[in-house]
Amino acid sequence: MDAGSCNGCEIEIGSAFGPVYDAERYGARLVASPRHADALLVTGPVTRNMAVPLLRTFEAVSEPRIVVAVGDCAIDAGEFAGGHGVHGPVADVVPVDLRIPGCPPEPDAIVAALRGLTGR
Ligand code: SF4
Repeated sequence: MDAGSCNGCEIEIGSAFGPVYDAERYGARLVASPRHADALLVTGPVTRNMAVPLLRTFEAVSEPRIVVAVGDCAIDAGEFAGGHGVHGPVADVVPVDLRIPGCPPEPDAIVAALRGLTGR
């Protein structure tokens, strides 16, 4: 879920699931609905208008659920900390289980983190 990112992190997540890094080889798969997900990848600082949608999306993921904060903005609001439209980091809205630092994190770092979740 993009909670307010610049889209840089999404590009790297897309690469992580592309033909070069191919995260699906390790049992991770992107799904279209939180109701089909085991884990929620969240990017960006949480903007004021996205705090409630983030919480609702989190609640739509079946338990046990894992939240992964992807990128510096998701971890601590990064470049956008203190901005008037910024609510705060992801952990201010939902519990975060895994953090992938970087601005943006490189695809191999994303794949390595996902492998830690899938165990493959
Ligand atoms: S961490 Fe960097 S690339 Fe990712 S949303 Fe923030 S500014 Fe953009």
